[in-house]
Amino acid sequence: MTTPLMVRIDGKRDDLVQLTQDLIRIPTLNPPGENYGVICDFLNKRLKASGFETQLIRAFDTPGDSERYPRWNIIARRDGTSLGDCVHFNSHTDVVEVGAGWTFDPFGGEIADGNIYGRGACDMKGGLASSIIAAEAFIEEYPHFSGAIEISGTADEESGGYGGVAYLAEHGHFSPEKVQHVIIPEPLQKDRICLGHRGGWWAEIETKGKIAHGSMPFLGDCAVRHMGAVIHEFEDKLFPAMAARRTDMPVVPEGAKSSTMNINSIHGGPKEQSDDFTGLPAHCVPDSCRIVIDRRFLVEEPLDQVRSEVTDLLEGLRVARPDFEYELTELNSVLPSMTDKTAPVVETVAQAIEDVMGKAPEYVASPGTYDQKHIDRIGKLKNCIAYGPGILEMAHKPDEYIGINDMLDSAKVMGASLETLLLSRKN
Ligand SMILES: [Zn+2]
Repeated sequence: MTTPLMVRIDGKRDDLVQLTQDLIRIPTLNPPGENYGVICDFLNKRLKASGFETQLIRAFDTPGDSERYPRWNIIARRDGTSLGDCVHFNSHTDVVEVGAGWTFDPFGGEIADGNIYGRGACDMKGGLASSIIAAEAFIEEYPHFSGAIEISGTADEESGGYGGVAYLAEHGHFSPEKVQHVIIPEPLQKDRICLGHRGGWWAEIETKGKIAHGSMPFLGDCAVRHMGAVIHEFEDKLFPAMAARRTDMPVVPEGAKSSTMNINSIHGGPKEQSDDFTGLPAHCVPDSCRIVIDRRFLVEEPLDQVRSEVTDLLEGLRVARPDFEYELTELNSVLPSMTDKTAPVVETVAQAIEDVMGKAPEYVASPGTYDQKHIDRIGKLKNCIAYGPGILEMAHKPDEYIGINDMLDSAKVMGASLETLLLSRKN
């Protein structure tokens, strides 16, 4: 199917490429949260020129916010000529560290074989650019639309979104009175609709021991051996139990349909010396060993159960194992979020995918969390999905790229969705 709006979006191919390159060339690395002000200024100029009213909002006193690394966000709004729903496109502006293994300049925005390369190309500056092009084309085609379009560029998604969407939601910017439909253009693939995500629970566990000379370990108590017992319990009981659970959520990839847990780090004994230290170690029985666990859970599992499964194992060891002492510090938790398949934004985007790509969409859920959690829990706005161009598996990898044709197709789906949601019936 080809519509005048789709033709108009095709005509903006060069603009879309340039915009994506410009966004990639602003290195918004998080941590520490660099250049949020620069990218917000850039978006401010762009969206003002397209007739949007803009607000620059700094998330004061959120994690990482400082004079050196201020957490700047932008919300741009363009009202139509009559009342109606507001459709909000939310993109995070931060990107993760570059890492090794690149053959392209990570902040060059180079083009090869129809793809634009760079850190953040797929996650998610390509999606942000697609939504801007879709909105601009829609406004040009239908200057008398009803309702409103909002576009936001927000900080810190990669580190939990507290200085970004969470802050904006706390300040009323995602209330159901103000915004009715939210599309987050994360790289979930141009023909898939992401309905939500699993939950997460993060904790540090420390086992305690007693320091003594390494030649007489029987005089001390080895915290690393106690941690060995903890991990043994995980292997024996927790991992098999988690693997046996399957969710009804359409989580991709397949392995993430079960509960999972990663042990992010382990450390016991004295601090490691720097690589250039040439001395030999002293010999002590370690009196502390710490791990950080990253537990991802399903919509069917209550958070209390997720917690108690771990603490029950630890309490069991306290009874069974002489001198076993531990401390558990909860670091963070995020509840799963799942939008109903019959929600208006889901049905609208599904129809748009069929119209633009001639096939029914695939419904998925994300293994990790993204900013939908804050829109759902803090904003109380349930009509929210992730939909955008790019390949999820490409995110955070070296030579990250976004396909130009994929961005154009996604922009057409976004544009067709705006037609459904913002053109009053009589048009
Ligand atoms: Zn992302």
